[in-house]
Amino acid sequence: MTPSGDAYPIDLHTHSLRSDGAYAPGELVRMAAARGVRIQALADHDTLAGVAEAVATGQETGVRVIPATELNTESEWGDVHVLGYFLDPADAVLGERLRWLREDRGRRVELMVEKLGALGYPVRLERVMEIAQGGALGRPHLAQALLEAGHVPSYDAAFETLLSKDSPAYVARVGLTPLEAVRLVRAHGGVPALAHPGTVALELEKVLPELVDAGLAGIECYYGSHSVDATVRYLALAARYGLVPTGGSDFHGRGEHGAPLGGVRVPAASIDALDALRASDARVSAYHVEPLGRAR
Ligand code: AMP
Ligand code: ZN
Ligand code: FE
Ligand code: FE
Repeated sequence: MTPSGDAYPIDLHTHSLRSDGAYAPGELVRMAAARGVRIQALADHDTLAGVAEAVATGQETGVRVIPATELNTESEWGDVHVLGYFLDPADAVLGERLRWLREDRGRRVELMVEKLGALGYPVRLERVMEIAQGGALGRPHLAQALLEAGHVPSYDAAFETLLSKDSPAYVARVGLTPLEAVRLVRAHGGVPALAHPGTVALELEKVLPELVDAGLAGIECYYGSHSVDATVRYLALAARYGLVPTGGSDFHGRGEHGAPLGGVRVPAASIDALDALRASDARVSAYHVEPLGRAR
């Protein structure tokens, strides 16, 4: 048992209002602190905008906040979501790329609003934007708007019936390819990890070699919806490909999706391994080591 009964000290996957979570970054860190979380990654989709506020609150409440983002890709590989740890919110070039990804999100949500209207489930784009409060737009904001408009009985039902991939209202994102997402994180000094590997449609043994070659450094073995068997399998893959086993709740504070904040046990060794990768300057030393020769 943990101090708060059902939470653990490490959570490497959380979302705030800066993307599709329900709580402001500071509020989220305060909630995590109250539940006994001591190390928390803020991994908002396609943005680092919440990091400064989260770090400041973390300093007040004794939570080490790790800056991160989650880059969602969808392709014939399935849903490959890449978590990028230790990225710098002041990195202007990265910021420009993330802005482009957020614009892509905006276009997609607009198209989905049009489709929902045509299907007889009208929601106003302005209302969706209000719900998002300036955060990176996504389907969760549409789900909230559909619930408010009375088109669905619950937030989760919106996903089940109208927003899922096989729904006629669905629009795919353009975004990045999985390899581009991994390379983007690496190119900006971050440590990339494969989020919730269960959403990858192909055999992981088929895609991991390419992802690892592109610089993948971790895999989210510990995740709320993973069975024990799945976790064991992912841990074996982590060992086989030399990946750090990461984990987290994917807490959004909306609906039933994800685990409670801090609700997934992540070993301290995972943090130590991530820190070691970062300290070794992941950008240069761990992957694609250039043949520098011996000249000095
Ligand atoms: P998007 O980035 O717009 O494709 O939306 C993905 C987000 O929707 C995820 O990060 C979750 O927050 C949420 N989500 C995805 N699938 C479900 C689901 N079945 N039920 C509830 N929320 C979901
Ligand atoms: Zn999300
Ligand atoms: Fe995800
Ligand atoms: Fe997530």
